[in-house]
Amino acid sequence: MTAKAVKPVVAEGDSISTFQVTVGATGSKFLIDIRDNKKITGIKCPSCSKVYVTPRLHCPTCFVRMSEWVDLGGKGTLETYTVVRYREPYQPKDPPIIYGIIKMDGADTGFYGILGEVDPENIKIGMRLEPVFKEEREASLLDIDHFKPSS
Ligand SMILES: [Zn+2]
Repeated sequence: MTAKAVKPVVAEGDSISTFQVTVGATGSKFLIDIRDNKKITGIKCPSCSKVYVTPRLHCPTCFVRMSEWVDLGGKGTLETYTVVRYREPYQPKDPPIIYGIIKMDGADTGFYGILGEVDPENIKIGMRLEPVFKEEREASLLDIDHFKPSS
């Protein structure tokens, strides 16, 4: 018996929705450290010693619970990036917006951030970056306004 080709169903419509997501105790501590202390923290696996940013409750490799918090010192290295040159209502800034994956010093995973104070033409993979925090913070990833070039 051969499988029949299934024509995909496309649902169309307009929707505006609001939602709330609970980030849990681990996510809350991470966001509160950003809001109250302007610190990006990681969490370390007791089995493989990998440090995760953003932190999570369990190591996805070892499946063990993690609870050792690591202060990452505030600087990192750009691993990759993309430049968005069009405007969408959900974008947090006017284009061009440079989204980067930054490996914070002491971390083993990349962390999302918006790059600023640099032209897209001058970005280099491997460049050093540091976060610039908003003055008014509300325990959100957007409390980090952007990452700027650093030494
Ligand atoms: Zn592990």
